[in-house]
Amino acid sequence: MTRLIDLPALSQLTQQLGPAALIELLAEHITADFLRWPEFDKSARSACHSARGVIELMPVASATHYSFKYVNGHPDNPARGLPTVMAFGVLAEVATGYPLLLSELTLTTALRTAATSALAARALARPGSRRMALIGNGAQSEFQAIAFHALLGIDEIRAYDVDAAATDKLLRNLAGIPGLRVQRADSVQGAVRGADIVTTATADKARATILTPDMVEPGMHLNAVGGDCPGKTELHADVLRAARIFVEYEPQTRTEGDIQQLAADHPVTELWQVLAGHAPGRRTDTEVTVFDSVGFALEDYAALRALHALAREHGIGRDVDLVPSDGDPKDLFGRTRGAGASVRLRRVA
Ligand code: NAD
Repeated sequence: MTRLIDLPALSQLTQQLGPAALIELLAEHITADFLRWPEFDKSARSACHSARGVIELMPVASATHYSFKYVNGHPDNPARGLPTVMAFGVLAEVATGYPLLLSELTLTTALRTAATSALAARALARPGSRRMALIGNGAQSEFQAIAFHALLGIDEIRAYDVDAAATDKLLRNLAGIPGLRVQRADSVQGAVRGADIVTTATADKARATILTPDMVEPGMHLNAVGGDCPGKTELHADVLRAARIFVEYEPQTRTEGDIQQLAADHPVTELWQVLAGHAPGRRTDTEVTVFDSVGFALEDYAALRALHALAREHGIGRDVDLVPSDGDPKDLFGRTRGAGASVRLRRVA
């Protein structure tokens, strides 16, 4: 049977365990899988672009498991009552191709993106970082705040969004988290001034320049989450040129990340190399580091495997007959025989 975890089931699990604990667990799983990076069959995701957004498929496989995520990015969706990013995915057994898990991945994407951002910052931000600017206060933002509070000890956040209602929502959702002070800023400059870490999680299908060189102070770590698609960026190119840049999977980030603005041979370092001790992370207190995050399939693979184990442990979700797993495997037609009436069907328009 295939386990089905729908959105209510994952919401229930997140409430039961707490988002911080779940993000910490996902960070452990993602780190463990990044440390066995060469073992995975990797590729850049395939993308179907339209004027309003993008729909992507993200596959990856190890010797034992295969996973894919379906995910979209439509920045105008909130005006239509839908999230900018929606996702679901599958975890399958490589030996048979049997789908073990069909899961919601919208909430999971926010959890795993925050986990990846925070584990990257643990390796790249100045030790002792306490203050973070959070630009873009939409669906991803609370998860980012909670991850940086739990994994790095960030205790002060200055939040800014062009949509004041989004910041209101963020302040409401984060109120009452012990040891975390969240304040509204009246501009990007106001949020960024004096910050140790700057997280940008804005959504605009445009070459935006949320951060310009005049805003960047020595030693800052920039966690750039929202520039994740061709023609969709957040950092001024000169911010990138003055920084050391870290990416997830270089072939994908070259076309999707903020570094799409740079020459194709501009040096970047894959994060797994830093985690594995093959490449240095931050070298001095004054250099500026950038995590040019676009989201990589391996993060979803790690999350799906963690969710599959958690679902069984906590009785979350339910088993469904998604593919045949009993009866005569050669008698597929037998499943169509019944007493159904003969009706005339119409072609879908
Ligand atoms: P969202 O639409 O819910 O929130 C985006 C917010 O950005 C909105 O509140 C919007 O008002 C704000 N914004 C837009 N332009 C701005 C500007 N110039 N200054 C300040 N705020 C601005 O989207 P979301 O789900 O929170 O996603 C945020 C971004 O992160 C998207 O671009 C999405 O594609 C990206 N994302 C990346 C990853 C990853 O792994 N790197 C994962 C998920 C989402």
